Amino acid sequence: MSTNFSFWNMACQQLDLVAKRMDLDPNIHAKMRHCQRALVVSVPIRMDDGSVKVFEGYRVQHNSERGPTKGGVRYHPGVTLDEVKALAMLMTWKCAVVGLPYGGAKGGIVCDPAGMSLGEIERMTRRYTSEISIIIGPAKDIPAPDVNTNPQVMSWMMDTYSMTVGYSVPGVVTGKPVEIGGSQGRMDATGRGVATVLIAASERLGLHPAQSTVAVQGFGNVGSSAAKFLHGKGFKVVGVSDVGGGLFNPRGLDIPALLAHVKKNPKKRLEGFGGGEYVGDHDAANARLLAMPVDILAPCALENQITAENAGAVKAKIIVEGANGPTTPEADEILSKAGVVVVPDILANAGGVTVSYFEWVQDLQSNFWDEEDVNRSLDRLMMRSFQDVYDVAAREKCDLRMAAQILAVSRVAKASALRGIYP
Ligand code: NAD
Repeated sequence: MSTNFSFWNMACQQLDLVAKRMDLDPNIHAKMRHCQRALVVSVPIRMDDGSVKVFEGYRVQHNSERGPTKGGVRYHPGVTLDEVKALAMLMTWKCAVVGLPYGGAKGGIVCDPAGMSLGEIERMTRRYTSEISIIIGPAKDIPAPDVNTNPQVMSWMMDTYSMTVGYSVPGVVTGKPVEIGGSQGRMDATGRGVATVLIAASERLGLHPAQSTVAVQGFGNVGSSAAKFLHGKGFKVVGVSDVGGGLFNPRGLDIPALLAHVKKNPKKRLEGFGGGEYVGDHDAANARLLAMPVDILAPCALENQITAENAGAVKAKIIVEGANGPTTPEADEILSKAGVVVVPDILANAGGVTVSYFEWVQDLQSNFWDEEDVNRSLDRLMMRSFQDVYDVAAREKCDLRMAAQILAVSRVAKASALRGIYP
């Protein structure tokens, strides 16, 4: 990708297309093309060798017209303000499409956590939290995990914020361990949501689980949970891949056995599993996986996986985007011409932020739900959201991605019009 590529410009261009299609009020459109707040912070920490290193961190709030803002915190060497702004805007649309009372936010620190000790990551997390504490809070902006952050990082964020205000504030972040106010069902929420919308989409196309085959790219949090739920519903998962390679079995992989294998494998990889043909070259494995003659393809690894180069080889009838941004706009066009139904990321992977919302509600009320209640509420909300998007697509005669964006932007636009401009 060229160094001139701007994820933020791409997000604005997507908004422009939706705005044109729905004839959006130009004043509201202009407001949506800007982030409400963007804070850049320096994060100096003492490294284990005694030296001081200064990291750069960001917290961006795109739009708070539907409620407090919500979005993950990413630790990665490639984090930029441009990327964080774009991801904050996408969070606004994701929260709106499933009807959560939130706007979008995102945060990040430019760092390589793989080369840092746990102590260094803790000190960096605490100093970053302290620096952004002027704009976060349970009624303002609620961070959550994203790439390379996890329940432990959320625990440190919650503790740092709580120490600053002088009392425990579990609702300041979500994705926490259950022992300190996390929610049951959060770990599986995104994969469960992916499976729920996938089942709804396949029913519309007349596919039956027992006769349908699935390929899943990525076997991390999202991909492995999605595969587990689909296998449980009778789908035959015939291919999966991870950063090391791919595993194929035309008769269907034994997903519970594969999950147990990955769990006890020190690298948490697919490699070494006996129940299928393993391809160790990850480029070759991905090329084969994406072109498999399956009914359903679920990209659940990274952005930019289905591109103009490989979209023509896709044979699946449905693509469900578990990852954020796995399909490029050029690939989208090719797939659309080929009649492939794409369930877009802002709908398909919204299960995670939905259970984050449930966690926040439980924290605010100090009233915790059991896992069954969480899952029932998640399933209901994902099915309703799929139906809402499907109805817009039928009414507007457009694909599901455009429909999801129209639905999201119109909900934010309504809030914006009702609230007006201050002062
Ligand atoms: P993860 O780190 O748990 O898993 C990522 C998986 O992808 C791993 O199995 C990894 O080996 C694999 N992978 C990495 N590079 C690959 C490659 N080149 N080819 C094939 N596989 C590759 O991450 P995750 O939490 O499962 O997130 C996956 C995607 O879903 C990301 O785009 C993330 O932003 C998105 N997402 C996650 C959540 C969530 O709740 N975890 C919510 C919404 C969206």
